[in-house]
Amino acid sequence: RSLLKVIVLGDCGVGKTSLVNQYVFKKFREQYKATIGADFSTKELEMDERVVTLQIWDTAGQERFHSLGVAFYRGADCCILVYDVNVPKSFETLQHWHEEFIKQADLTEPEKFPFVLIGNKVDLEYGSIETVSEKKAKEWCASRGNIQNFMTSAKEDYNVDAAFLCAAQLALANEDDQ
Ligand code: GDP
Repeated sequence: RSLLKVIVLGDCGVGKTSLVNQYVFKKFREQYKATIGADFSTKELEMDERVVTLQIWDTAGQERFHSLGVAFYRGADCCILVYDVNVPKSFETLQHWHEEFIKQADLTEPEKFPFVLIGNKVDLEYGSIETVSEKKAKEWCASRGNIQNFMTSAKEDYNVDAAFLCAAQLALANEDDQ
């Protein structure tokens, strides 16, 4: 199987759809319709001398999405958790998304499953009073196993490729293990 399923979770408005659109289509828009339900975008990559298809699933991050449950989470090879560095609440809610994923994906060994943490909208960081420090994010990752951590801007296309490439590599390694 060369299809890797990556799911993107996090609060509404943190930039999940923008990150996916920047990564897959190299496009950014200021205004987005809130994602209705769940949807996925695909991107082909060459890794380890083989072509793999990344299937990236995105949601609106709203509570009502819970009804999608099983099909959304089923067969995920990697989970990207996104917060907005300017919105501390979106960082606090990560715990919920992390636990929800572990539960819904029915992970038996969560510390072995690849998660990637993305702190998005770093282009807005300066000038804002309360931001989530990278140190805090790193501590969060370290205390939950070995979670990779990226600071990105979907708007300025900063570090977006690196974060998704890392997710793809971890997903591939995870799949090969199974
Ligand atoms: P989602 O609900 O998590 O999918 O978030 P969206 O992708 O719909 O983004 C919410 C809003 O934040 C939109 O108005 C985006 O244009 C904006 N946005 C997303 N990423 C960035 C970013 O990196 N920097 C800035 N300044 N705005 C962003």
